[in-house]
Amino acid sequence: MDLPKIDKRKFKGGVPVIHQTTLFRHDDPWEGIALSLIPAIKKGFPTLQVDLEKLEGIIKKENISIYDYFKAYPSDGDAIIAGWASEFNLNTAAVALLLRSITRIILEKRSQLIEWKGGNWEKGYCPVCGTFPSIAMIKEKIAERWLHCSQCGYEWKFSRVICPYCEDEAYKETPFFFVEDKGNECAFACEKCKRYLITLTRMSDLIIRDLDISAISLTHLDIIMQEKGFQPMATCEWNVF
Ligand SMILES: [Zn+2]
Ligand SMILES: [Zn+2]
Repeated sequence: MDLPKIDKRKFKGGVPVIHQTTLFRHDDPWEGIALSLIPAIKKGFPTLQVDLEKLEGIIKKENISIYDYFKAYPSDGDAIIAGWASEFNLNTAAVALLLRSITRIILEKRSQLIEWKGGNWEKGYCPVCGTFPSIAMIKEKIAERWLHCSQCGYEWKFSRVICPYCEDEAYKETPFFFVEDKGNECAFACEKCKRYLITLTRMSDLIIRDLDISAISLTHLDIIMQEKGFQPMATCEWNVF
């Protein structure tokens, strides 16, 4: 990552790293990452197996260049996915899932190089990749709210009295919905923008949690919130019904 290109004033003003410098390099091991991911995705999503096997063959024969998608990221991404899907007769969901998984690996690696750890970041979207969070966590000892990026997994501290999505300061009217006996699992919902954020409260520092796994395991809260007419802040494979 070209750190000197990142302007701290722009960053403070809400321009994420991805819009200031490129986070994807031509010489990143695109094909290697894709081919090592495909067996795991096949296992997790058996209905996409045939498409993933086709993709595997296409990548091995170098009929597509995965970097083409990242050169245009995120602006022309959907057009490239649709183009590959129609050219090779593939399910769009399979192509999108593979590319999203590759994105995660590269962005997570790059985000580890950011020195200021989002300390002066005041936005509800990710300081690294500009994506909204999939889940939030409020710690037990110091009641700070930490947001977890749905795309790169970066975590940053954010005000508890502002909606991360629309920045409305409507915290007082904000409803929380609980499942009985699971008081620390809830959803923050904003009446203004009608978005919700799954939130884990009173989290102890003693336990190390994988927040991606937590987000997937709380899908029942996504169902409850969407039935109430709210939309998630970030669309993920597991929260679209
Ligand atoms: Zn991110
Ligand atoms: Zn809002």
